Amino acid sequence: MSVQKLVILGGGESGVGAALLAQAKGFNVFLSDRGLLKDSYRATLKAAGIPFEEGQHTEDQILGATEIVKSPGIPSTVPLVQKLRAQGTPVISEIEFAARYTKAKLIGITGSNGKTTTTLLLYHLLKTAGLNVGLAGNIGDSFAEQVINDTFDYFVLELSSFQLDDMYKTHLDIMVLLNITPDHLDRYNYDFQNYVDSKFRILQNVQTNDDFIYFAESQPILTELTKRQPVVNQLPVSLQTVVLPGGYLAEGQLITRNKAQSFSISQSDTPLRGPHNAINMLAAVLAAQSVGVANDAIETGLKTFQNAAHRLESVGIINDIQFINDSKATNVDSVFYALSSMDAPIIWIAGGLDKGNDYSQLDELVRQKIKALICLGVDNYKLVDYFSDTISYIYETQDINDAVAKGFEWGQPGDVVLLSPACASFDLFKNYEDRGNQFKAAVKDLMHDV
Ligand code: ADP
Repeated sequence: MSVQKLVILGGGESGVGAALLAQAKGFNVFLSDRGLLKDSYRATLKAAGIPFEEGQHTEDQILGATEIVKSPGIPSTVPLVQKLRAQGTPVISEIEFAARYTKAKLIGITGSNGKTTTTLLLYHLLKTAGLNVGLAGNIGDSFAEQVINDTFDYFVLELSSFQLDDMYKTHLDIMVLLNITPDHLDRYNYDFQNYVDSKFRILQNVQTNDDFIYFAESQPILTELTKRQPVVNQLPVSLQTVVLPGGYLAEGQLITRNKAQSFSISQSDTPLRGPHNAINMLAAVLAAQSVGVANDAIETGLKTFQNAAHRLESVGIINDIQFINDSKATNVDSVFYALSSMDAPIIWIAGGLDKGNDYSQLDELVRQKIKALICLGVDNYKLVDYFSDTISYIYETQDINDAVAKGFEWGQPGDVVLLSPACASFDLFKNYEDRGNQFKAAVKDLMHDV
């Protein structure tokens, strides 16, 4: 049999990992990136002797591939991908490619919000239990590179809809679907159903004994389950009703039952605040129970978990005014939960690149909790226009130091100044991390000055 030619489009973490795996498995590999590679990735490819190009896509090289591994960042609408599809060349994601080479049990986590938190938490719970587990997907080191030696028994995989779009045969043993709310619609022809269908690809290869954990108060999930009737072991998570087997929140207690195992803990004994984090924790606990983690390890894991930065991250308290960095809140639903998580009056810093936001979901919470709005974006028109009737104090700025100073000026002891933008960051910042880091630096500066 002739050697298969695998072409990888996109030379980021997943693409370079896929190139290394492909080479290890004897493929003829070529990697192509239309932009420039990071120095470290370029060096890795060179050291491994893998042919690549950057700054261009040479079609002659690419169209001759037996199969393509495409980075999730490249939309399938770009002409090159269209051409490949039209000529019948399979286009898959790095996850799909890597999954062929592992014996590990796979736990896939998706949703519009909460993926990273739940993935990191579940990974932490399994690690705490002493399991031999890897972390991959839309987070950390590439899945493909980690399966070259295939040493793990489990993988916790964070899966974005873009990764799911290019997955076909991968069998996940446990699937978690946290919620589906409008996001990334620019990649889904502005049709929410397309995005819902993408999320439901997580179920495409279910087997009867697999576990499917989902949030039962997400209407799009329920509608889809009624339509599809998947034959799988369902473990719902609820904030409103007792669901057993499954997990629910009642009077501050997180309670789960999965097979014969029951578990409960008070949310106040964990470091994660807010109803959204109750969902994330219940989902992670159910998944941990599915792989047989004992209650004491679950309890220890929950208590010792440290979430990634920029998710309702407490930055500091100045004159009894608390500053919270939720820069990762890039859509309206995540802001809904941020506001739900706060007991104190809020001075809300929001704005950036609007992805077609509908703010009406926030009406009630804004009326109850928001004292003032500080708009931090190049174009704040939509925010100002929407909230000018409900919020008395609105200020506009393009400078994050100024936004923090204004929050402090308007704040009174006991208030919260919350950066939870509901928007992407690219108008004023490199990315959401940059926005969050600049916010933290501005708060630290203010601390020194006061
Ligand atoms: P993702 O990886 O899906 O973007 P993160 O865990 O990074 O999710 O959280 C992104 C944002 O959404 C943060 O602002 C966080 O506070 C909020 N969030 C976390 N979990 C949920 C959830 N289950 N539902 C809604 N919002 C959430």
